[in-house]
Amino acid sequence: MPGEPGRGSAATEADRRWLCEAIELSRCSPPSASAFAVGAVVVAADGTVLATGYSREGGPKDHAEEVALAKLGQGLGLGGVVGSGLAERGVAGSELAERGVTIYSSLEPCRFRASRPRPCAELIIEAGLRRVVIAWLEPPLFAAGGGAGLLRAAGVTVVEIGGLAAEARAVNAAVLGE
Ligand SMILES: [Zn+2]
Repeated sequence: MPGEPGRGSAATEADRRWLCEAIELSRCSPPSASAFAVGAVVVAADGTVLATGYSREGGPKDHAEEVALAKLGQGLGLGGVVGSGLAERGVAGSELAERGVTIYSSLEPCRFRASRPRPCAELIIEAGLRRVVIAWLEPPLFAAGGGAGLLRAAGVTVVEIGGLAAEARAVNAAVLGE
């Protein structure tokens, strides 16, 4: 396992390795011509994996981050409904924030989406996660990006590891027309 996540706005070697795990997970996504393949890993401050998710894991509209957050809710004994915010299910966001939980996503969490009402950036904020590590920003192909900006406006630390962008993009070569 890659070890303890970093804590600030600078990416650590462990962050890079965890993000590689998220990119590997993105390869599990069933192919789609109208959505990206994304992987997400939620990691506690001590380096324990709390939850994982990938695009379309449980159904054709699933996003990686919402799948992971729903599993996180299940792990906390809250049941799990994909797309429902943890806050709505009674999880104190500050609790997760205090635990120093980081979510790694191979792509910037969405701010706008057509398929479901709650974008992943909002779900992350509601869940109380305070640190997000991503490989690349969402290109405006299927929806406008902007998730990173929304997260930062809410006080969430967003760390972009551009050195892994090419690898994360390569998983999506077909949908990008590359
Ligand atoms: Zn999303």
